[in-house]
Amino acid sequence: MIDISENLETLGWITRPRLLALRRLGITTTEDLLTHFPRRHEDRTEFPQFPREESGASICLCGEVIKTSVRRFGGWKKIFEATLEESQPNALSEPLVCRWFNLHYVQKMIATGQRIVVFGRPRLRGKRICMDHPEFEVIENDEEISIHFRRITPIYPATEGLSQRVLRGFIYRVLHEMPDGGWQPVAPGNLVRGKRSDAIRAIHFPESWQARDAAREHLVLSEFFAMQMLIASRRFESSARTGQAHCGSGALLDKFLTGLPFELTAAQRKVISEVRYGLSANYPMNRLLQGDVGSGKTVVAIAAMLLAVEAGYQAAFMAPTQILAEQHYDVLRRWLDPLGVRLALRTAARQESSVPLPLFARNEHSPGSTGCQPVVSGSLPDTQTRARLDYVEDPSYHRRNLPHFERPWAKYAITFSTRGHRQLSPKARDIILESILRWKDRRYELYAASVMPDHVHLLIEPMIELNRQGGKPVFFSLSKILHAIKSFTATEINKVEKKKEAVWETESFDRLIRSEKDLQEKFHYILRNPWDAGVADRGKDYPWIWYCGSGDAQQFAASCREQQAGSLCSPDTEHVARDEPEIIIGTHALLYDAVSFSNLGLAVIDEQHKFGVAQRARLTAREPAPDVLVMTATPIPRTLTMTVYGDLDVSTIDEMPGNRGKIVTAVRDTSKLGEVLSFLRTQLQKGRQLYVIYPLIDESDKLDVKAAAAEYELWRERLHPFRCELLHGRIPAPEKQAIMDRFRRCDTNALISTTVLEVGVDIANATLMLIENAERFGLAQLHQLRGRIGRGEHKSYCILLSSSQSKETSAKLAVLEGTVNGFEVAEADWDLRGPGDLLGTAQSGFPALKIGDLKRDADLMRRARAAAMSIFEMDPRLELPENQRFRRLTVEQQGQSFSHVS
Ligand code: ADP
Ligand code: MG
Repeated sequence: MIDISENLETLGWITRPRLLALRRLGITTTEDLLTHFPRRHEDRTEFPQFPREESGASICLCGEVIKTSVRRFGGWKKIFEATLEESQPNALSEPLVCRWFNLHYVQKMIATGQRIVVFGRPRLRGKRICMDHPEFEVIENDEEISIHFRRITPIYPATEGLSQRVLRGFIYRVLHEMPDGGWQPVAPGNLVRGKRSDAIRAIHFPESWQARDAAREHLVLSEFFAMQMLIASRRFESSARTGQAHCGSGALLDKFLTGLPFELTAAQRKVISEVRYGLSANYPMNRLLQGDVGSGKTVVAIAAMLLAVEAGYQAAFMAPTQILAEQHYDVLRRWLDPLGVRLALRTAARQESSVPLPLFARNEHSPGSTGCQPVVSGSLPDTQTRARLDYVEDPSYHRRNLPHFERPWAKYAITFSTRGHRQLSPKARDIILESILRWKDRRYELYAASVMPDHVHLLIEPMIELNRQGGKPVFFSLSKILHAIKSFTATEINKVEKKKEAVWETESFDRLIRSEKDLQEKFHYILRNPWDAGVADRGKDYPWIWYCGSGDAQQFAASCREQQAGSLCSPDTEHVARDEPEIIIGTHALLYDAVSFSNLGLAVIDEQHKFGVAQRARLTAREPAPDVLVMTATPIPRTLTMTVYGDLDVSTIDEMPGNRGKIVTAVRDTSKLGEVLSFLRTQLQKGRQLYVIYPLIDESDKLDVKAAAAEYELWRERLHPFRCELLHGRIPAPEKQAIMDRFRRCDTNALISTTVLEVGVDIANATLMLIENAERFGLAQLHQLRGRIGRGEHKSYCILLSSSQSKETSAKLAVLEGTVNGFEVAEADWDLRGPGDLLGTAQSGFPALKIGDLKRDADLMRRARAAAMSIFEMDPRLELPENQRFRRLTVEQQGQSFSHVS
């Protein structure tokens, strides 16, 4: 009696080397062995006659070896040939020549006089019928014939040190020694027909093709059912958790929608109502929003967030990159400022720059602080009405001094830190504050300054250098201002402290202030900083802080201290405190941010494919659970959705806004670059803008950065006199942002970029895209990239440059010429690529599929899913006696190998 969970060793008749070989296939128990399913079957009931012509399909033949030979070619390479003759030859029979190139072991296994079975495609080579690299088996004795021949024979995925025959022999023997009772049914009786043990038997050694198919269906359904039970349990587990309804009446939403410059598409309206339904349920929403690039997901996200905000909750909006977070922030401000919704941007992303961005730097010590939020509203003193030095005509920056984002009349928030976190003594801090004040009103307007023990915050507006000789009036540049402050204070401090070490880091971080509201936020952030960071005690004064005096601000600083003291004693998490942001926009970093939301009701994750299940879990693990809306622009074949996103409710935007210009996609050989360029120039002449995308394999590689720079030079020449800029992953985040800003303002005509440009960038005037070495990208990625254009009313052009002649490449690129629909691209991609990891599904965490094929068996998946869902709908906790046996299926299995979605 064999217990299927026992180790194969206990059988006692498998030798050690073979056990090791089996282990390499992941087979250790009897169950493993018997669920090592055949890759295919061969009909060896009767072998056909030897062919006289070539054929497109592989066939299985049996014959006697009448001759073998080895020929050499190209020096050391060898061809081994074995000529076979049919068992019962007739006058018309042709011999079959089997050839193996450079496979030395084959030569050792095949000898004249043997009978062998071969499987392959017969081809006409000269006058001979040949089979190249056929699979083969030598027939050794008649006893074996009953296992390996005269039947529908299973062919297994094999391994080194374990031939087909040996493996098949093992399975045959185990099946014979097996009593039927060893297998527990996996799937319920209304889903599968027959017994599992019969299906296992028949999948290996079927009596007929029908029996094989029935067995396969049984096993695939069982496998899919197990998978869907896991998915269903995840899904029901989260909806069984207590949540809250996070849905307002919709008045705010209506106001927002009426203010929009366009009508929603029907698809957007449908999806918003689905989301609304999810928000108002009192269990947590876990919803996926699918929609092609440019289909208008952001509006839906905003609608959802407004509903949550109206119900009195906070919402978080997360984007995969800083550029996107900033873009969302700008868009949301434009639309939501008029509605009085309070927004904040947080991008303290470690990935983006080595040091946190100054204004939103997370303070390790700040217990639950809200960081940069103003407590008192009301305008800053005097910032708008101040005289604008009217007599100066057209002032500008001196060209040489113009760093990337300095502008006339701009205000900046600046942070600079000490070298190696050198701690500043109180005396040193005095010196710094004094010198900052010294140049105030001569070189810059100063709004606020805070000198912390190892860094300094400033909020300034550079002034015009009045006493320059002749020429145009020029602004003081940031670098000049900072240089003066840093070098003066460094000397003074070292003098006082009798040291000679460097005081300051060379670089500093600055940010352009974009609006009055921005200014206020930063102003208040700086004023609060010492208390937030825990540097100053609650309720105590901090002497190294300065702000442009006015009643309001004085009061503010005082209230800062008090509020800080108060909030530490009794954190108010029940309600959004007055003036706390209602929508917080940021990167993934928000997930890890210690600065917690006081009242998170909804989290929207943009471009979900960049997030894993684990990251999502991190969000939803909060108590009480917020509603979660994840958005993706990477459509996947519909049949995959129910698996990969099976634990989510899915909403799909399947319609593009009507105001879109067409996108024309064309594949061009690299040799046609000249024509392409002249086309691009005429378009640039018309005022359109261009993205040039080139593939870099590894952006962390120094060489690649060099290559990028070289590429850039080349393009600058090609496009002269149009202005180009270079964008790649190693450019520091603030500078990236500035480059995007300039492009958005149309200061630059072309952006030469790597794929950092990938997701979500939305610039309507950029209607041209040229992708170099297009063959190097995957279809999905090309489609994503192409989504950057075609966002305005103008006709857009995407040119795929490729120098590859291969058939696969042309087939792949032709897909893009044929359609702009992301779902169609995804389906075609699946077809072309065949098996393979479509989505990096390791993230979805499913055990590997042993027999099912997600594509071919989509229907079976649907049935399995329905069965699993109905069990959970009736009995969410699997408490009924008849459901006990399903419980083990719902345990997440650790350490399983993860699946290829194929
Ligand atoms: P994505 O789905 O790729 O995130 P976005 O939300 O960025 O797309 O939308 C792309 C552009 O389309 C934005 O400029 C947005 O303002 C605009 N848009 C969204 N919905 C509509 C609509 N119904 N009609 C016209 N334009 C729209
Ligand atoms: Mg988007």
